[in-house]
Amino acid sequence: MATEILIVDDDDAIRDAMLEFLEVSGYSTTAVKSAEEALDLLLTKAVQVVITDIMLPGMDGLELTDAIKEDYDIDIIVMTGYSGDYSYEEAISKGASDFVFKPARFEELLLRLKRVLKERKLTNERVHMLEKLKKLSITDGLTRLYNSRHFYNQLRGEVDRSNRYNHPLSLLILDIDHFKVYNDSFGHLEGDKVLIRIGQAIKPLLRKMDSAYRYGGEEFTVILPETDGKEAQTVAQRIRKAVKEEAFTPEGSPTPETITISLGVTAYVPKEEVSEFIQRADKALYGSKEEGRDRVSAIFI
Ligand code: GH3
Ligand code: MG
Ligand code: MG
Repeated sequence: MATEILIVDDDDAIRDAMLEFLEVSGYSTTAVKSAEEALDLLLTKAVQVVITDIMLPGMDGLELTDAIKEDYDIDIIVMTGYSGDYSYEEAISKGASDFVFKPARFEELLLRLKRVLKERKLTNERVHMLEKLKKLSITDGLTRLYNSRHFYNQLRGEVDRSNRYNHPLSLLILDIDHFKVYNDSFGHLEGDKVLIRIGQAIKPLLRKMDSAYRYGGEEFTVILPETDGKEAQTVAQRIRKAVKEEAFTPEGSPTPETITISLGVTAYVPKEEVSEFIQRADKALYGSKEEGRDRVSAIFI
């Protein structure tokens, strides 16, 4: 994105000279005569830095700084004479990024502009990095689903919400059937591919507010907010069928293998502990295992 600069100065000569200097320095620049015009222009134009005189007819430069900072994330450099009417502290406390005395030497202004832009770039990079780290910390490295730490956090949040608004909330836990045999037959790497594919199979079956997690080695959970037990059973059956319909052809195997999963479903009972809720879903899952696998079992209270 090209850097857009906006100059605000009521002195025609200064304004034109600055405009020309910044254009020559490689910045796309616009210049206006008043704070009011500047605010009008910002409604339609994306600007990164505003360089404003403090003394302006009508709204002054500090008020302009205030108004811009209220609505935009834009850097502002304020220019002032030596009159002493305004202080550096005042400008900075309004949110200005820097302050120059008039008549500003263009080279100095350019240096300050570059510094402001560089700081902005570093801040953006830092924010971007933090977002990436945050995402990484809640993501399972293999399946790209959320990890179990995020599961507990999210489930606690959903349980709070369910209690507060008395909305339904359901939970699925699923586990691959006889996965040890698959691993023993085709190797751990082929087993990992199954885990990835199951993650991919689950995701498109969920609504926007639902979320899927790799809960343990070969166990997954799905949180279904605003979903009662009956609807949750339908989702569980859909996931069971989707996984069963996937053809897994491990290296070294002439024919596709069928993978099945067992699922446990339960609905949240108002005021109960999160751990009771999870344990009941787990118990339902073990019911499915005991009854022969490749099925959905539900426990409702
Ligand atoms: P069941 O139908 O009772 O669930 O049988 P199972 O063999 O799936 O269950 P068990 O608990 O006996 O074994 C789970 C196996 O899952 C053990 C291990 O080989 C496999 N497993 C767990 N985590 C991973 C993983 O990250 N990658 C791979 N490839 N295999 C895993
Ligand atoms: Mg297991
Ligand atoms: Mg298993």
